[in-house]
Amino acid sequence: MKKTPFLTLEQVREIEKTYPTPYHIYDEKGIRDNIKRLQDAFSWNKGFKEYFAVKATPNPFLLEIFRDMGCGLDCSSYTELMMSEKLGVTGSDIMFSSNTTPVDEFVYASKLNATINLDDFTHIDFLEKCAGIPETISCRFNPGGIFTISNTIMDNPGDAKYGFTREQLFEGFRVLKQKGAKHFGIHSFLASNTTTNEYYPMLAKILFELAVELHDETGADIKFINLSGGIGIPYRPEQDPADIYEIAEGVRKAYEEILIPAGMDDVAIFTELGRFMTGPYGHLVTKAIHQKHIHKEYIGVDACAVNLMRPAMYGSYHHITVLGKEDRPLDHKYDVVGSLCENNDKFAVDRMLPEIENGDYLVIHDTGAHGFAMGYNYNGKLKSAELLLKEDGSVKMIRRAENPKDYFATFDFCDILA
Ligand SMILES: *Cc1c(COP(=O)(O)O)cnc(C)c1O
Repeated sequence: MKKTPFLTLEQVREIEKTYPTPYHIYDEKGIRDNIKRLQDAFSWNKGFKEYFAVKATPNPFLLEIFRDMGCGLDCSSYTELMMSEKLGVTGSDIMFSSNTTPVDEFVYASKLNATINLDDFTHIDFLEKCAGIPETISCRFNPGGIFTISNTIMDNPGDAKYGFTREQLFEGFRVLKQKGAKHFGIHSFLASNTTTNEYYPMLAKILFELAVELHDETGADIKFINLSGGIGIPYRPEQDPADIYEIAEGVRKAYEEILIPAGMDDVAIFTELGRFMTGPYGHLVTKAIHQKHIHKEYIGVDACAVNLMRPAMYGSYHHITVLGKEDRPLDHKYDVVGSLCENNDKFAVDRMLPEIENGDYLVIHDTGAHGFAMGYNYNGKLKSAELLLKEDGSVKMIRRAENPKDYFATFDFCDILA
């Protein structure tokens, strides 16, 4: 599918008057329409709820959009819980899916009455000691082995640090019941960033069958099944997007084949999608500031891996559009690079693009999830602003850019820098 930015050159020139590059910008309309599609696709399930994975894009103004549209929040840390509480999202509107969880995080999640999704059998005792066992609790399942769909290896759960084994899950439900838990959920996350429409239905089948067995053997009242995150987005133009209607239909089929005959027709389906919800609706906008001609042709831009780590960390592809040159031939081969003293700081390697001049604006696509969020401060580089393109076409700053004072703030106890 041809990748078209949600911003024009004229809009970016206008934005530049107030907010210099680089910045991340998010498309509110795109996000809202996508939430509606997800909710519509799963409307066959009465209790369906999306808990947006806060870690994907932890900005309160974006979380507010999800809250406004009836979604919950999936938190995994203390500050994510704080952000939820500030937004008035508490209780069963929070899914606390964390692992290797510190005491203070369990205590806080428990204080907010969040639904806790336990990552490990030993966390039952740990949670009981630090915060007590709540009436509603969820456990994360790890089936081990290799997870395949249609003979394609999706992921390697046997090598993943998350979740309970099957045996631990049965024992865990028994123990939790003895300790007073009354309502249960099951969660699993077996593939990341997959655009196949078969993933959720396949995962649903595994979890629905497991739910029936857990119900039969332990008598547990299973209230929800959390399919977690993992639905991907087409980062490359030649990839097809996932079809959420086909996915939801596949889950419904499994529900009707497995849960309904078992008398479990009131189980709610939950999702904890991150990337799928916001990924395509974010751009990193950056400006070409240098051209370098050595053994290769380099375009130096004013953003760097601090603003978007995925290409450096995973070698991920992010599509690039040179604004205003959308229709020019892609007849120049460039490495598009940032300023870190790290040779992996390359947004693109050997990428065919139109001829770029200094001052051109580059849109780096699909940065709406796991983009800004993974930022860091290596080389003393500062994080950019985040902007929101609102539905009425106006632009609102939803996080200011860092300044040197922010960078030095953690030395505020120390005279040397005073
Ligand atoms: C990261 C994460 C998600 C979201 O994953 P996406 O790939 O962004 O959909 C959901 N649940 C848990 C527990 C996670 O760790």
